Amino acid sequence: MRVHLLCALILVGILPLYAGLRAMKALYWNYSYEKRLEQIKEQGTTLAGQIAQSGYLEQQMQPELSARLQAAAELYNGQIILVNSNLLIVKDTAGREEGKTLISEEPIYAMRGEPQTYYDKEDRIEEVTLPIVLGLNGENGGQVIGAIVIKASMADIVEAQELFEENIVVLMIGATILLLVTALFVSGGMTKSLRKLSGRIEYITETYDGTQIIETESYLEVEQIAEAFRRMMEKITATENSRQEFVSNVSHELKTPLTAIKVLSDSLLLEPDVPIEMYQEFIADINSEIDREAKIVNDLLSLVKLDKTSGEMHIAEVNINELLEIIMKRLKPLALKRGIEMVFESYRTVLAEIDEVKMSLVFSNLIENAIKYNRDGGRVTASLNADHKYFYVKIEDTGIGIPEEEQGFIFERFYRIDKARSRETGGTGLGLSITKSAVQMHKGSIKVQSVPGVGSVFTVRVPLNFVLTVQ
Ligand code: ADP
Repeated sequence: MRVHLLCALILVGILPLYAGLRAMKALYWNYSYEKRLEQIKEQGTTLAGQIAQSGYLEQQMQPELSARLQAAAELYNGQIILVNSNLLIVKDTAGREEGKTLISEEPIYAMRGEPQTYYDKEDRIEEVTLPIVLGLNGENGGQVIGAIVIKASMADIVEAQELFEENIVVLMIGATILLLVTALFVSGGMTKSLRKLSGRIEYITETYDGTQIIETESYLEVEQIAEAFRRMMEKITATENSRQEFVSNVSHELKTPLTAIKVLSDSLLLEPDVPIEMYQEFIADINSEIDREAKIVNDLLSLVKLDKTSGEMHIAEVNINELLEIIMKRLKPLALKRGIEMVFESYRTVLAEIDEVKMSLVFSNLIENAIKYNRDGGRVTASLNADHKYFYVKIEDTGIGIPEEEQGFIFERFYRIDKARSRETGGTGLGLSITKSAVQMHKGSIKVQSVPGVGSVFTVRVPLNFVLTVQ
């Protein structure tokens, strides 16, 4: 990671800087070169005009113009050559070529009225060849009588450019060192804080007692990782606590009937002459405690099975009206024993994609509770409705109700409001937690409304289409 960061910082820092400096160098050259060229052309044109007018090409006995040509040649640290229309060199400020013929293509083009420029890169010399025109200068009709060749040294510009380049190199080295140090510092800081974080996580993993926390003071992103880790630890701790609580609840619940059985059997065994009636009574009690133990174990098995197979849903299209009717019929004898009326209201036929076994658990638990926690001669109403997305099952009773402050807890495992009554009715405190798990596995929801002494309403909402709701 550190190497990547370093490379990225250097690339991002140095490359644009290098490109920028190179562009500046090219710009500098273009600007100075063009300016110099313009200056030469301007002066050349003026000189060509003066030469044409004074007849200098035929007769060079004009010291003033000669001096001017000399001065111009010196100004450019170069040479000025004049040729007549026969390409014969009539004047050379360097005094070397006079009388010779200039063999080069530039004057030939210049004779046709086309000014020429040529840059000799090796000698750093700019060569400008301009026509000398008699008559209307530059316009058609003028007669080209010769050409002026100005050779100007560009060495000063090239040297300035070279100096500039040297400075660029120095600047680049300086910037690279600076960037390298910064990159090392920044990447070092980042990786250090990450290493510190992972060290702390490792330490906590090995010695975790539920109290340690991760403190970091560094980059925001590292802080966010630490925060996410803190939340994860909190969640794991909460899960672990609830697991432990569940195990201790299970042990307690399983132990209660066993203790009762032990007490009952001990009293029978220790008593020498137990009357037969007492035997029968105690054995009946032992029998009901065994039933209770079996019920707890059964409920626990259902719960564990739901947890384990949460991914395994056996989905099929089921007629919910028929399902509810079957469950109500099965539970009717339980209601009749206490004179409780069972009513089923159906607003339409509902076909839904559900796991039939799991949804049966939901409905039978709710209807069984509505009977168990009802008053004698009360009523249980189950109603079924649906819209385009969900179906709704409402189980309403006229029973003891649930105090508002308890309503939030009844879906927890082993939670019972009135332990004695629940025990009497054979409750284990697991029914509603099984119900809620099964509803959630269908991506549905369950809620309760209740008024103590009046009754309770449990409403289950489940999507009609299972596949659509599970992405
Ligand atoms: P149990 O096996 O004890 O019935 P549940 O999980 O089904 O366990 O219910 C938890 C507690 O919620 C019950 O002990 C009872 O106190 C309360 N409860 C559930 N349903 C009703 C209801 N219809 N009316 C009143 N109280 C209810």
